Amino acid sequence: MKGSLKLGKIAGIGLYLHWTFSLLILFIVFVNYKNGQNPTQILWSVLFILSVFVTVFLHELGHALAAKKYNIVTKDITLLPIGGLARLDRIPEKPVEELVVAFAGPLVNITLAFITGFFITIPNDSNQLMTELSKGVNADNFFLNFFIVNFWLALFNLIPAFPMDGGRVLRALLSFKLQRNVATKIAARIGQFIAVGFILLGFLYNPFLVFIGIFVVIGAQVESDSIESKHVLTGYKVRDVLMRQYPEIDAHEKLKTAIDLLLDSQNKNFLVTDNTIPVGTLNRDQIIMALAKKGENETIANIMDPNLIFLDADSALENVFEDMYKNKETLMLIMENNKLIGTLDTENILEFILIKEVHLKKDHAA
Ligand SMILES: [Zn+2]
Repeated sequence: MKGSLKLGKIAGIGLYLHWTFSLLILFIVFVNYKNGQNPTQILWSVLFILSVFVTVFLHELGHALAAKKYNIVTKDITLLPIGGLARLDRIPEKPVEELVVAFAGPLVNITLAFITGFFITIPNDSNQLMTELSKGVNADNFFLNFFIVNFWLALFNLIPAFPMDGGRVLRALLSFKLQRNVATKIAARIGQFIAVGFILLGFLYNPFLVFIGIFVVIGAQVESDSIESKHVLTGYKVRDVLMRQYPEIDAHEKLKTAIDLLLDSQNKNFLVTDNTIPVGTLNRDQIIMALAKKGENETIANIMDPNLIFLDADSALENVFEDMYKNKETLMLIMENNKLIGTLDTENILEFILIKEVHLKKDHAA
């Protein structure tokens, strides 16, 4: 993620801290200072926030290590003021795998709360607890606070609503009996139902709940839509959507020619060839960038992207859909018996999804 500081590497996974995190620390110091706290008290508050972020990191590491068990690589973990983000290179789809990976995060918090529970005395009644907590963090109640944070993090993450871990746990459980897209839809609806409850309660008691509710309503919709798109593609192959007519440009041509092509057509991605052999690709952003930096007399060969992505015409379209997001702005080359038969880009697949979805809706209505 942009603007992140690399802290190091653990178990082969890069760990990053987003710069906005420093704002959070400044904010904590400021609020404590304004409330008339002395430097020692402020220091304890900062230490506490840092310990919470170590916790969030361990939670994400829990997901990452569970995923590793199923040969899913985690690219990196980034800590943001709102929580952590582990980027897995694919989402586990088998119900058991998804269940284990989703539950591994909250399990870390449950374990931490359990361990801390042994070393602290938890006040007997809630009044006593509130008095203790209202003092702010200090040397005496540091671990009590730590226990409570982990307890709440486990509970919060297990709310059965996307994008929370609990939403994935719920989908995984439903997937044992149902098709994945149906399970996703049901899990998303349950999540949104809970979220509306949060929003209503939030207006009465705590504005923070409104915020979480809105977050869940949107997150659930995004998840549901993306799974639906993927489902639409099931059963189709790359050859069903490829472009047999695609825009080509010779590597020896000048940038000027590419600009003319860009202006004359709807095409945004071009295949660069040398004596009809593909040698690279060129997209709209690269053309505009090169024009600004080098001028229109630069040779195409010098500005193209020489990395070619080949796909077999018989590849399943739903698998390509995932790669598509990684290679968003490129043209992929479609091969059949070692022969180039067409190209494919993001827009082809998105248009295909749109058209298929309209057909599906019509069928449902009929
Ligand atoms: Zn999690």
